[in-house]
Amino acid sequence: MATTTKTKAAAKTSRYNELRKMLEERRRELMTAVQDKMRDVRAEGGKDRDVLDQGESSEVDIQEDIEFALIQMKSETLNKIDAALRRLEEGTYGDCFECGDEISQARLRALPFAVRCKDCEEARETAEQRERFLAQKRGSSALFFDMSN
Ligand SMILES: [Zn+2]
Repeated sequence: MATTTKTKAAAKTSRYNELRKMLEERRRELMTAVQDKMRDVRAEGGKDRDVLDQGESSEVDIQEDIEFALIQMKSETLNKIDAALRRLEEGTYGDCFECGDEISQARLRALPFAVRCKDCEEARETAEQRERFLAQKRGSSALFFDMSN
């Protein structure tokens, strides 16, 4: 009995370490990408500006808008990773929202912000499809009811 508890605790710790490493690696990658992009945008914004005519400069503007949108997206992902790391500290990261089981590490690696295990996610999707189907059916019968009135 005592051994089982010990093994479980050890497994939890190694899972914690693995997930932490995964999140921190991703965080580092994003930070580097954001910093590089910011530097690029600033560098490009500074030069070239004067020599461009109107048409070209608006193309640069569009390009910059896209770059900024990308930076923004990456920053939002960074925030999510920070939140995930906080949840990991609290011991709630990586547990399924529905059934409380641990979400597999493979799944978290592919979808770091998954809140449900694979089974629950699939069950939810099936339920949603069913819900949509029923709503459609209800909608059409209500329509039919109105027309006959
Ligand atoms: Zn689940």
